[in-house]
Amino acid sequence: MNIFGYKHGELYAERVPVRRLAERYGTPLYVYSRGHFEAQYHTLHRAMAEVDPLICFSVKSNSNLSVIRTFADIGAGADIVSGGELYRLLQAGLDPSKAVFAGVGKTSEEIEFAIRENILFFTVESEAEAVRISDSARSVGATARIAFRVNPDVNPDTHLYVSTGRKETKFGLDIERSLAACERAAALPNIELAGIHMHIGSQILAPEPFAAALERVAPLCMRLRSLYSSVRYLDIGGGLGISYHSGQAPLDPARYASAVVPVLKEIGLSVVLEPGRFLVGNGGLLVCRVQYVKDNAFRKFLIIDAGMNDLIRPSLYEAHHDVLPVRHTDRTCRADLVGPICETGDFIALDRELPCSEQGDLLAIASAGAYGFTMSSNYNSRLRAAAVLVHGGRARLIRKREVFKDLVRGELRPPRARQ
Ligand SMILES: *Cc1c(COP(=O)(O)O)cnc(C)c1O
Repeated sequence: MNIFGYKHGELYAERVPVRRLAERYGTPLYVYSRGHFEAQYHTLHRAMAEVDPLICFSVKSNSNLSVIRTFADIGAGADIVSGGELYRLLQAGLDPSKAVFAGVGKTSEEIEFAIRENILFFTVESEAEAVRISDSARSVGATARIAFRVNPDVNPDTHLYVSTGRKETKFGLDIERSLAACERAAALPNIELAGIHMHIGSQILAPEPFAAALERVAPLCMRLRSLYSSVRYLDIGGGLGISYHSGQAPLDPARYASAVVPVLKEIGLSVVLEPGRFLVGNGGLLVCRVQYVKDNAFRKFLIIDAGMNDLIRPSLYEAHHDVLPVRHTDRTCRADLVGPICETGDFIALDRELPCSEQGDLLAIASAGAYGFTMSSNYNSRLRAAAVLVHGGRARLIRKREVFKDLVRGELRPPRARQ
């Protein structure tokens, strides 16, 4: 599905001209395509149909209420990592009994909140956490379902900061210790051992690491299944990679499915998936306006009104994002695309062939639907961007642009200086 493309020389989001959105809602502006979100979900679900997975949208990738709602409406569950994300599910109307809760640092308050809302299960990262969940469940007077996160020690070829399945990372339990840990956890009061979880990293472009990880956890799953009738789920995480460059081949859902489905069928547990980026990454643009064009002896700079506070991926992971002109042009100029923030690291693209632009021109930064707005901040006391959700020929504002008052909300005025 070609969601963002040109018609009569103008960039469109589905059937809406991007320029019209920028003029109506201002810039910087996140523009999301509901058509893309739904198509990605259905593509993955179809590819994995043989195991009929529960697809839990990873809310940290894009936590806007309308985005969560879009996935809830087509049957998705949610993968959450904080009490705040659980609150968002409730606000968006996603049934928490389809939610799984991950993260290495869950507090007792978050755990009790999730038990009261009867989430599907916690993915547990340490033995101490299992004890804490048991204590919380007892004080709430309920039983909590848990799935231990196992670290299969595979090394997917991805950025170090988003690789989570090697034994050096803080995530999960190493496989050798997992069986004993599961047995101890299953014996805790108010705990039901519901399954096994793994998530080996993000933006993984080949199916082999997923298959290798599954092969490593399969014996443990079989063993636990034979020991505990409560063990029903195998959650294989997210991490499916997408295309960030026009030349980059994404992970093909069909190839992913053929690598993992045979092992999953052999294991025979209910399958849970936790994709984030795959569902939303290429369904979002960050639209911005060129504020200044500046040349120095070495470089040309396009200075835009979006900065690292709006989209931090280039600064944080050296991530590549394609940059599209909103009014089509084939002319390119070599330049840095930089934001207004007082940091050398505030860039979107460095020394790149970019659409030739003048002051006032609109540009669209592609692949901004995942880990874009959710990682944005108010650094430099900048107002966080507005967001719109496009569906066919319609567009709806789903996040208002912040105003100055939002910046100081929650802060207490200093006492007046004494004369
Ligand atoms: C971040 C995360 C995901 C989603 O990762 P994507 O690369 O966006 O698919 C899934 N599961 C867990 C436990 C995560 O931390």
